[in-house]
Amino acid sequence: MGGTFDPIHYGHLVTAEGAFWQFELDEVVFIPTGEPWMKEDRVVTPAEDRYLMTVIATASNPHFSVSRLEIDRAGPTYTRDTLETLRQHEGEGTELFFITGADATLEIFHWKDPEEVLGLAHFIAATRPGYDIARFEAEAPSRHPNVSVMSVPALAISSTDVRERVAEGRPVRYLVPEGVKTYIDKAGLYR
Ligand code: NAP
Repeated sequence: MGGTFDPIHYGHLVTAEGAFWQFELDEVVFIPTGEPWMKEDRVVTPAEDRYLMTVIATASNPHFSVSRLEIDRAGPTYTRDTLETLRQHEGEGTELFFITGADATLEIFHWKDPEEVLGLAHFIAATRPGYDIARFEAEAPSRHPNVSVMSVPALAISSTDVRERVAEGRPVRYLVPEGVKTYIDKAGLYR
């Protein structure tokens, strides 16, 4: 499961659990992005903070784990590099899935080596309520056999909203796990 996780919230956790069940996965590995090269318009929280919040949020689930793969890799984050490393590590017999947001999936054809990326894993594109599914279906990635869409009502929660709430002093309890809320307060994030 790839994402910036700035911060991780219950929508991400429900998405991961839903994909685990629906696609009969063995485990879900959360991979916080290192340097999101397409996000030069805003400040992204340091990778170490995003990694630690992801560890805190997933710690109680026995089939969730967190990988430092992308945050320890120097330079811009490319999903192709990540999937190739996972493929080498897991061996040819392992089927890989890449869970992420639908908007991110739509952008695949603007990523580095899109056809190769789509050949390395089955993509699960999570949509939030109100998402314009017709727009998704009109785009080429949605018709690729290696792309599935999963609608996730809990994705009404968004990282952007959580960051804005913290900045304005509004509550985030029940939107993010308690430990993540404590971490945000302690590290003074999003002020
Ligand atoms: P983003 O543009 O910040 O997010 C796009 C949308 O998807 C947002 O609504 C976001 O909501 C949602 N989203 C992101 N991750 C999600 C997840 N795991 N589950 C459910 N919804 C999710 O996307 P991003 O975080 O930068 O990138 C997502 C993944 O695509 C990362 O793994 C990234 O490395 C990869 N990516 C790769 C390339 C490449 O060139 N290879 C380029 C771009 C992205 P929230 O803000 O609430 O999470």
